[in-house]
Amino acid sequence: MLRQEENGLKLLRFAGLAGEPGLNHAVTTRQGGVSQGAYAGLNLGFRAGEGGDEPAAVRANLGKVRETLGLTRLVFAHQVHGTEIVSVNGQAGPDEEAQAIAQADGLATDQPGVGLLIKQADCQAVILYAPAKGVVANLHVGWRGNVADMPGKGVAFLAERYGVEPREIKAGVSPSLGPCCAEFVNHASELGPVFLPYQIRPDHFDLWQVTVDQLCAAGVPLGQIEVSGLCTRCAAMFYSYRREGVTGRFGTVAALV
Ligand SMILES: [Zn+2]
Repeated sequence: MLRQEENGLKLLRFAGLAGEPGLNHAVTTRQGGVSQGAYAGLNLGFRAGEGGDEPAAVRANLGKVRETLGLTRLVFAHQVHGTEIVSVNGQAGPDEEAQAIAQADGLATDQPGVGLLIKQADCQAVILYAPAKGVVANLHVGWRGNVADMPGKGVAFLAERYGVEPREIKAGVSPSLGPCCAEFVNHASELGPVFLPYQIRPDHFDLWQVTVDQLCAAGVPLGQIEVSGLCTRCAAMFYSYRREGVTGRFGTVAALV
C-alpha cells in the first residue's frame, strides 16, 4: 500500500484505487489522534465493545479524519458482525460525528463527499468501487462475515440497488488479521469444513484468500482485487484486538469525489 502523511495523520492507500480519480479512500493508523492510554492515537471507536475511550477524544479524531480527507460527511454504522448493508444519501444527520447511522456491517452510496467508515481492530474492511456507475461500498468483514459470505452479499447489493455489474467492480481488502495470526482453535465449529482449504498450518487460516475467492465467486475479476497484505496484529501502527485486548479502532474510509 502507499503510505502517505497528511495533516499529521499517517494514511495508507491501495495503489490501484489511489489512481481512480472518482474515488477518495484511506486506511487510518494510530498516528495523529488525541486519544490517550490504551487508546493512544487516532482511535475511532466509541462503544463499550470497542473500548472505553473519552467520547470527546473520539469525536475529535473522527473530525480530523473527515477534515483531512475533505469529506462533507463521515458516516459509520453500529457494526454487529452481520450482513446488513444500508444505502447512505447526501443528507447529514444530527450530531453525526458521535452517532452510528444504523445497525449494519455495510455502507453504500452514490453521493459524492460521503465518507463510508468501517471501524476495525483485526477485521477486514472491503471497499467495492464501480467507477462507471459512480457507486462505492465499504464492508465490515470479520470471520463471521466470511462465514456468511459478506463479500458476495456486498457485490449482490450493489447489483440490486444500483445496477452495478460485478465485472466493473474494483475492490480493496484492508489491513486485517493475516494468516500469520488468524488462529482459530475452534475452527471446526466456528468456520466449518468449507474453510479447511484455507488452513495454512494447524489452526491458522488465510482469511484474505477467503475474501478474494468470495469476491471472485460473485463475479469480481481477480485482477481488480487488491489485498493490503498487512497484518494488524503484527504491525504496531494499527489497533489490534488480538494483540492488545483493550484497544481502540482504526478505520477504512471510502467516498466518491
Ligand atoms: Zn500477523
